[in-house]
Amino acid sequence: MAVNKRLVSVLGSTGSIGVNTLDVIARHPQHLEVYALAAHSSVDAMLAQCLAFVPRYAVMMDEDAATLLRQRLPAGFHTQVKYGESGLSDIVTAREVDVVMAAIVGAAGLPSTLAAARAGKTLLLANKESLVMGGHLLMQAVREAGARLLPIDSEHNAIFQCIPVDAHATPSAKGVSKVLLTASGGPFRRWSRAQMTDATPDQACAHPNWSMGRKISVDSASLMNKGLEFIEACWIFDLAPEQVDVVVHPQSIIHSMVQYLDGSVLAQLGNPDMRTAIAYGLGWPERLVSGVTPLDLVATARLDFEAPDETRFPCLRLARESVVAGGTAMAVCNAANEVAVAAFLDEKIRFTDIPAVIERTLERVDIVEPTTLSVVEDADAQAREIAYSLLADIQHPPTAVKRV
Ligand code: NAD
Ligand code: MG
Repeated sequence: MAVNKRLVSVLGSTGSIGVNTLDVIARHPQHLEVYALAAHSSVDAMLAQCLAFVPRYAVMMDEDAATLLRQRLPAGFHTQVKYGESGLSDIVTAREVDVVMAAIVGAAGLPSTLAAARAGKTLLLANKESLVMGGHLLMQAVREAGARLLPIDSEHNAIFQCIPVDAHATPSAKGVSKVLLTASGGPFRRWSRAQMTDATPDQACAHPNWSMGRKISVDSASLMNKGLEFIEACWIFDLAPEQVDVVVHPQSIIHSMVQYLDGSVLAQLGNPDMRTAIAYGLGWPERLVSGVTPLDLVATARLDFEAPDETRFPCLRLARESVVAGGTAMAVCNAANEVAVAAFLDEKIRFTDIPAVIERTLERVDIVEPTTLSVVEDADAQAREIAYSLLADIQHPPTAVKRV
């Protein structure tokens, strides 16, 4: 094995970020090797990935999926199969592991992301929900364990690239006055509130520029994704809410910008393909070939900008209000959103019910200081319970029933 070869654990390997991560890793067999893969229950996809990458471990969410995977791997195959939180914890804390790609979707990713930070690993953070819920704990763990947090969310990756290396934790002290988070505006950028009432899950998931998992696609349509990213930016770069502006940029070519006290604005540009940010994380501080088509600015021709409309997209306002409220408000906002998005994808509520469920949940859960993981998990559980009870109260017929 080459001396500088990095061993990588990919959490959420069968998802959109996971598959893109393996695509980049496969381009660099001399520098990168898969140590472990983890996924929820997609045994077919995990089996194919095990055969292709021959990891030391594969972790499934539960025992049934693990048993099925074990049965389907060839006899005597190199990969050992584990399951559950303990399996995840083992593959992020193992001494041999250098890099952890945290790409599980939703709050389910928090314990393993936190464990990777506490183990002092190079943490490639895609799972934004873990930072939104437990930002205080996660950033503290990164500092105390000397972990290296490299943001994979394209906006935060862009900001990271536009700030000098020694100033990531304290950009304000080094002349950064603001960050400008760009947002595509999603598939409903031009839709009226009335049109959004009848939006279907497939319409919400049809993102104009990015191909992503279904949960983040709905978040992008509601602008909650930008709201979660607003919170994420405050945590990663230690910024006050008033230092983060959201700018709608429909072409998704500028991935975000950093404004300095002297009037300079630095931007990172590229085609909308997550492999750029993933390769940046996997190679840091070197640059790696990612497979992304080079940007053709002449063919792009236009870069447009507009202000976000928080009346049509209240989720952005709710996320901003949560970060201002502080404490467990962000965990509550995130949990209520996860419940509401799942209900929308199941066609139980309308698209426009999502912010209503979040707002009412935020009104009903007491906000406390997020001192430990169990305090955060309690807030998450309480918010989910209230959000579920609100779903039952929603009187609208589901879109599937209403459509003719
Ligand atoms: P996805 O739905 O495509 O994939 C999710 C992955 O997580 C799957 O492999 C699934 O099996 C796994 N998973 C889910 N629950 C799990 C559990 N309890 N235990 C173990 N594995 C579990 O999602 P995605 O689009 O790849 O997004 C992943 C994360 O990255 C999200 O937090 C998202 O916000 C963030 N992100 C995604 C993109 C993107 O382009 N897709 C961009 C920026 C940030
Ligand atoms: Mg993003």
